[in-house]
Amino acid sequence: MDWIERVGKLRQWSRNGARAPHKPLLMLYALGRFRRQPDGVMRYSDVEQDLRDLLADYGPAHQTSPAYPFHHLVSDGVWEVRTDSGAGSPGTGVQVLRESGARGQFVPGLRSALSEDPALLGRLAQVLLEVHFPPSLHGDIAAAVGLDLETGGGAVLPGGGAGPGRRRAEELRRQVLIAYEYRCAFCGFDGAMGRVPVGLEAAHVRWWAFQGPDDLANCLCLCSLHHKLFDRGVLGLDPGRRITVSREFVGRSDAAKGQVLDLTGQTLIGPQGGSERVAGEHIAWHTAQVFRGRPRVPECV
Ligand SMILES: [Zn+2]
Repeated sequence: MDWIERVGKLRQWSRNGARAPHKPLLMLYALGRFRRQPDGVMRYSDVEQDLRDLLADYGPAHQTSPAYPFHHLVSDGVWEVRTDSGAGSPGTGVQVLRESGARGQFVPGLRSALSEDPALLGRLAQVLLEVHFPPSLHGDIAAAVGLDLETGGGAVLPGGGAGPGRRRAEELRRQVLIAYEYRCAFCGFDGAMGRVPVGLEAAHVRWWAFQGPDDLANCLCLCSLHHKLFDRGVLGLDPGRRITVSREFVGRSDAAKGQVLDLTGQTLIGPQGGSERVAGEHIAWHTAQVFRGRPRVPECV
């Protein structure tokens, strides 16, 4: 059994690029628990709140139930659920999962594979993160489920070679930085050490994991802070390419005001003339799938 391939192909409920990271988040959570407690089972009522929090932080913008992945992951052949009355999941109802004493764990084959190969756990976590989330969020999600990526082993994507992919990423970054003249499209940050730009990144608008293309129509040059906030849905763009800030973001310091809140309604900086601008369809995807809640209304002066 090639567990990496199987986990890399976890069925998403996504249609038309809609994000449904429920199963990957449950898998990551379960990997974190397995690392600490290989023999432990996860009682639904004990982990429900943790899963709810994970889904709220890294799941889709609309509210979803942690009961769905707990039940549906069984069909992917990596997870099993038992209740007080025996094997099998009782369904996707929160109440029935709680009251039946439902508990889940990895299937025996995966548990033995994880115990026999200590590097497998980190590789599975890497695959789940790479297939479902943008790189700027990997460290945060890993920390939220109690996994340490530094010691977890390298990424091995099913069917993918790291070499050509990395070269493509470097070439894309170069093109994006030139198009935006080595400045953050949100704040204008243009730091460099000597001749090398630092803290500037090529950000995908529609995530690569969701068929977002590697081209200028889908990328922005952003500083590290604004890249992170854009991928977390704090920042977004409206159809007129003006910056939106989520009403759910709160920051009271002058720094938070200056670097985030004051961006409300600002227009993008760049790209330079003759460069392709971000396409409306990718902005629409980001607004629907990543941006959190409603945008703030610009303050009237
Ligand atoms: Zn910036």
